[in-house]
Amino acid sequence: MKVVKFGGTSLGSAERMQNIANIINDGEKKIVVLSAYSGATNDLVNIADALYQNDKSKADLLISHFLQTGIDYVSNLFPSGEYRTQAEEIIQSSVNQIQSFTLDLFTPFEEKSILAQGELISTSLFHLYLQSIGIKSVFLPALNFMRIDREREPDNFYIQQNLERELAQHKEDNLFITQGFICRNAFGEIDNLRRGGSDYTASLIGAAIQAETIEIWTDIDGMHNNDPRFIANTKPIEQLSFHEAAELAYFGAKILHPSSIVPARNKNIPVLLKNTLQPKAKGTKISQESNQKGIKAIAAKDNITVINIQSDRMLLAYGFLKKIFEIFEVYKTPIDMITTSEVAVSVTIDDTTFVDDIVADLHKFGSVTVTKNTSIICVVGSLSQSSKGYAGKVMQSLSEIPIQMISYGASANNISLLVEAKYKQKALEQLHKSLFTTQE
Ligand code: ADP
Ligand code: ASP
Ligand code: MG
Repeated sequence: MKVVKFGGTSLGSAERMQNIANIINDGEKKIVVLSAYSGATNDLVNIADALYQNDKSKADLLISHFLQTGIDYVSNLFPSGEYRTQAEEIIQSSVNQIQSFTLDLFTPFEEKSILAQGELISTSLFHLYLQSIGIKSVFLPALNFMRIDREREPDNFYIQQNLERELAQHKEDNLFITQGFICRNAFGEIDNLRRGGSDYTASLIGAAIQAETIEIWTDIDGMHNNDPRFIANTKPIEQLSFHEAAELAYFGAKILHPSSIVPARNKNIPVLLKNTLQPKAKGTKISQESNQKGIKAIAAKDNITVINIQSDRMLLAYGFLKKIFEIFEVYKTPIDMITTSEVAVSVTIDDTTFVDDIVADLHKFGSVTVTKNTSIICVVGSLSQSSKGYAGKVMQSLSEIPIQMISYGASANNISLLVEAKYKQKALEQLHKSLFTTQE
């Protein structure tokens, strides 16, 4: 069985949804994971923000816009008839649910229930559309099997048990439709896997059923060698190892949710990145193998904060780093990059929710400085440290740019550099030019 996931842009119009029906209708057994159509989750986030601010009239306006977008979508999907009425009811009942939250106290529970509506609508519409063209599919509510635990990590045992139970009820069926992104938390409430989380859903499902492949269908022909939103003439990469893809996803390649490679890698399930608009294009295959050595791609992660701790007590002391890391552990804040000298440590974080508490706690070790608004530039490939020249080439390309931190050697897949955000564009351009353009 395969898992095939379609993102927001692949569902961006009724025509695109119809196109997905063509792509999946090949008789093979599969679970189709859908995101919300593009723009829907952003609209829902704005509605929730307005309700947090207790701005009911703004929320009403945004809800009307959300309703109208849905009605327009449906009118293109079903120009007339009974299916259109049913589809309009799907949109209206979601909107009624959202409106029911405008009356009471607004908390994260209501917010998450609102954010779930995008995926609930897109999957219901797609299920209905398949029915209207005579393709039988089974609707699998993700809230029946997708769950995160108290640490907000996927509860893999629960997911597997419950998904298997759901599938066992439909042994004869080939086509299953479910929602990406949404899940239940340890308290049974509606929750989500964070923005872009449908990729993660697909990978978690793939791992739970030991799928043959996990296909991520989007609006571009695979993982490119640089961020196409910032750099012209980027090219798709045919093959990446799990490690290379995970580094790229974690360090900013938006095509994949940062955590989405891990479940596939743990179960050794190949991930294919495919383009809905060009289904015949090769895309990218992510698997255990890495077909070529050398530098393959560049990515960048924004809104990075650096915390530098200077301390005389670090000199020749053991256990010092442990004490520092424990503080980040207390505040459940992951560290992305780290560099050390004899008397100082710099770490970077991107989740700044508890930065003030972390800094206050770190003060007991020495002086602490915080630098905001930096970007990590990450060069990824198969960069065996016994081969010469990779780090040299990267540093040479960036000779015009002030570099604040460098990290190399922890794995053979990544060289990371930290620059002020204002140098990010130039850094990506210079690296692209010297690593990819001149080789041709
Ligand atoms: P979906 O809605 O299908 O989940 P996303 O917008 O989340 O799509 O991801 C696809 C987008 O990721 C592309 O349109 C592209 O702009 C962006 N992107 C960023 N970095 C890369 C990269 N290295 N390769 C391909 N796409 C990238
Ligand atoms: N709809 C969600 C979002 O926009 C999840 C996803 O698209 O993967 O973040
Ligand atoms: Mg995405």
